[in-house]
Amino acid sequence: MERGLYIVPTPIGNLGDMTQRALETLAQATLIAAEDTRHSKKLLAHYGIATPLTGYHEHSEPEVTQRLLERMVAGDAIALVSDAGTPLVSDPGFRLVRAAQEAGIPVVPLPGPCAAVTALSAAGLPSDRFFFEGFLPAKSGARRSRLQALLSQQGTLIIYEAPHRIAATLEDAVQVMGDDREAAVARELSKAFETIRRGTLKDLLSWVAGDRNQQRGELVLLIGPMPEPSAGAPLAERDQRLLYRLAQELPPRKAAAIVADHTGQRSRDLYGLLVEGE
Ligand code: SAM
Repeated sequence: MERGLYIVPTPIGNLGDMTQRALETLAQATLIAAEDTRHSKKLLAHYGIATPLTGYHEHSEPEVTQRLLERMVAGDAIALVSDAGTPLVSDPGFRLVRAAQEAGIPVVPLPGPCAAVTALSAAGLPSDRFFFEGFLPAKSGARRSRLQALLSQQGTLIIYEAPHRIAATLEDAVQVMGDDREAAVARELSKAFETIRRGTLKDLLSWVAGDRNQQRGELVLLIGPMPEPSAGAPLAERDQRLLYRLAQELPPRKAAAIVADHTGQRSRDLYGLLVEGE
């Protein structure tokens, strides 16, 4: 096998999602660099792959990167895997890829499972443009600020969230983006209890809060883009831009009130424009 760094996605739940090429690459590589060697050992045992493993996690020292680089320079083929899905997507690997490129070592990405894209493909939200946010801050204040900054993003937001935080995050999203923004929760993808549900933020919040089962397992939260203002919107384009810009910094009601003062429009209408595109 040619020397290089091979980026190898692994299943996010269903072992049948391992590709033929991923199996061959792992079997033929000189070494597998894994986020958690104990975790990956089980996966490799399942497929009867005996390639040696070494740890490569988020906090790996520069010496670990250096050691892997030296091996690739000397001709080794190293496969990088994370615990699940595509390495580097909310997982370690960025530094190693950068270092390999800079050392002139080929970096070979294999296509494969990724929770973000899998969720997007079945959420029923606009998918022509999307923004991958990864994990939001764990604390509510910081999380709301981040959601505020994402408020007028013109694409579907893809967020990874821990199951014990999904209700609180939906609550923050309702506060920042309004009751009626379209969203979806994709839980336990490719596993026995796979559940994909689309609704307004408010509906999803009451569904998740009312059913403990929806607060278990692994999940992706998707939030649809801010609706386009309707064609007959009475606001001048410049004022619309001001409204959306303010809404990145302030709750929708406050942004609407300021622009209403400034333009003479009704605050209620401007708020409607922000949360419903009406
Ligand atoms: N690299 C992975 C990928 O390509 O999707 C993501 C790793 S990140 C540390 C783990 C997060 O991905 C979980 O907290 C969850 O938000 C999401 N995730 C992983 N597997 C999932 C699944 N089967 N169903 C839903 N979400 C999943």
